[in-house]
Amino acid sequence: MANFYEDNADLRFYVEKGIDWGPLYEHTQMLGDVYESLDEAKETWADTLNLIGEFSANEIAPYAAELDTQHNVLKDGDVVFGDRITTIFDQLKDLGVHGLCMPEQLGGMNAPLITYFLSAELMARGDVSVMTHHGFHGGMALAMLMFSVDEGTTTVDLENKQLVSTRFEAEAMDIVSGEAWGCMDITEPDAGSDMAALRAVGELDEDGNWTVSGTKMFITSGNGRYHFVIARTEPETQGDPETGLKGLSFFLVETYNLDEDGNKNWLATLDKVEDKLGHHASPTVMLTFEKTPAKLIGERGDGFRLMLLLMNNARIGVGFESLGLIENAIDLSKQYAAERPSMGKTIDKHEMIADYIDEMEVDACAIRAMGVRAAYYEELAQRLKLQAQFLAEDGSEEEARLLKESNKLKWKARKVTPLLKYYSSEKAVEYGQRCVQIHGGVGYTTEYGAEKLLRDAMVLPIYEGTSQIQSLMAMKDNLLWIMGNSKTFAKQLAEAGFKSRFDRDGLTRDVYKIKLLAMRAQVHLMRWILSEKLGNKPVSAWGSALGDFDPKVDFSPAMLHAEHLAKLLTDAAIASELFRQAKKWPERRELCVAFVERALPRSRYQLDLIKTTGHRILAQLHGEEAAAAPDREVA
Ligand SMILES: Cc1cc2nc3c(=O)[nH]c(=O)nc-3n(C[C@H](O)[C@H](O)[C@H](O)COP(=O)(O)OP(=O)(O)OC[C@H]3O[C@@H](n4cnc5c(N)ncnc54)[C@H](O)[C@@H]3O)c2cc1C
Repeated sequence: MANFYEDNADLRFYVEKGIDWGPLYEHTQMLGDVYESLDEAKETWADTLNLIGEFSANEIAPYAAELDTQHNVLKDGDVVFGDRITTIFDQLKDLGVHGLCMPEQLGGMNAPLITYFLSAELMARGDVSVMTHHGFHGGMALAMLMFSVDEGTTTVDLENKQLVSTRFEAEAMDIVSGEAWGCMDITEPDAGSDMAALRAVGELDEDGNWTVSGTKMFITSGNGRYHFVIARTEPETQGDPETGLKGLSFFLVETYNLDEDGNKNWLATLDKVEDKLGHHASPTVMLTFEKTPAKLIGERGDGFRLMLLLMNNARIGVGFESLGLIENAIDLSKQYAAERPSMGKTIDKHEMIADYIDEMEVDACAIRAMGVRAAYYEELAQRLKLQAQFLAEDGSEEEARLLKESNKLKWKARKVTPLLKYYSSEKAVEYGQRCVQIHGGVGYTTEYGAEKLLRDAMVLPIYEGTSQIQSLMAMKDNLLWIMGNSKTFAKQLAEAGFKSRFDRDGLTRDVYKIKLLAMRAQVHLMRWILSEKLGNKPVSAWGSALGDFDPKVDFSPAMLHAEHLAKLLTDAAIASELFRQAKKWPERRELCVAFVERALPRSRYQLDLIKTTGHRILAQLHGEEAAAAPDREVA
């Protein structure tokens, strides 16, 4: 019987030895001795992934075309799902997987979050829209628990390893049981990437009750019952994006409740289900709240921070979703190429096609390496923060130690997550298109499913923060870090320079060459941005020269080249991770060599682009700016 877990040796490598399960196991045990030992826990989690792999291969993948053609429709104010997705979610409810990572007392299996991400890949390989809708179940229940812990409304009895109470218990249990699901409502008709422009409002009445009003659009699974809504509660100072973000608060809003007969009483209006290019089994909804009762989460003005907590996990989720789609593209491409004869042999034996398929396979492993890293850092950071909150005394040394460790991991997760989201989603589109190309003419028809993959892939670089926004985040984080840590950066630069030239091992030299190229790009951009401020000062002296630096005004060249830099940073991050694996597990060296072989020349190209292009566009933009604002001095 087909099984997407069993047939994927690279994924199994992580479950069997690549992931250090020990710390995650210890943390999950904090809320109940669900497992007798680490070995038993690992076996259970592997069995669950095996089950999901089998389910996806046999109950989702064979119905991908059906899922694609059965569109969801708006009827009598509610969304009517297609028959196939209804069947699949009835089956998933029976399997009980919505509570995979929830504590046992909330109906879950107490598994680490990383098992959810791996299961997301398995489901997405069957069909991405099924995976997406699934993600708005357990992921949202877990978010309810996370937010309640964050605001201090969850209590635990550590001695007996019990969750005593949590604010959104009823809502979370409703989701875990498969009766309901959640949604994430950020985007509005006039505010997507620019969250400071959000206009939905949260209002407090005289009795101390909150309501939200406003229209949200493009809400995935937006016909769900429980919505995390970000809305403005504090006025903004005209045109100042900082106050725009600080004035946002975060709410849990129910769009309907049920009467005694189980009928829905709507508290918000579903306006529209989008007619999209792909992702057809996943409803994308526009809806309007009008003084809909809401529960404030955390403090007023905390909305942007809380929304980012949710989005970090969601972005890692898109990484694994993209990976599942790429695995699907590889499956279809290999099957077709092995059967289709051309010029005396099957096309998989032609050099170019063999190279195409090899590149896709290497990249799938590369993305998984980065995804597992991001997921692991993020999860451990969150769990250490929990430990600090529940286990350590307020103000104790132990609390400080746990928080310091958590922040370190959080920073590592923050560095790799935008790169994962960027690279995996862009590759999903590229390889969706490549899959069509490998199929030739039939790829352009609906018969083989290749064009569906391309259509499904195209939203991946758009939602959960576009590729451009991910690149800008990565660029800003990296350059600002260099400014604050110029001496450490100078040391890293020297080490990379030395190892890339003098190490005795060729692979080590190549990995460090890629890192060096990424660093040189950053040095070049810093010099370009700050040439006037820095003059000819050495890198190690930059920190003290940057007192009056304003990233919003001064980053223009780096904003222009943010995507090129993101590509370099991604190649450096993946090469480093695969190299780390190769040193620990010699059987991984071959993969590292295969990745580096392509990453090194393309990194040289990206650096060349950064060094030689962009001046003309910047001059044009500055010219336009000068015309619009004549009193502003233009460099
Ligand atoms: C199928 C689907 C499902 C979705 N699900 C959800 C959901 O569940 N919840 C939710 O809240 N939203 C959801 N969205 C919305 C999605 O997150 C937004 O579409 C996305 O953030 C982009 O916003 P926008 O469409 O307003 O584009 P814009 O922000 O207008 O951007 C348009 C283009 O300009 C670029 N751009 C914008 N600013 C900059 C800049 N400073 N520098 C360089 N380039 C820039 C963008 O990258 C993009 O290429 C979904 C969208 C789709 C299509």
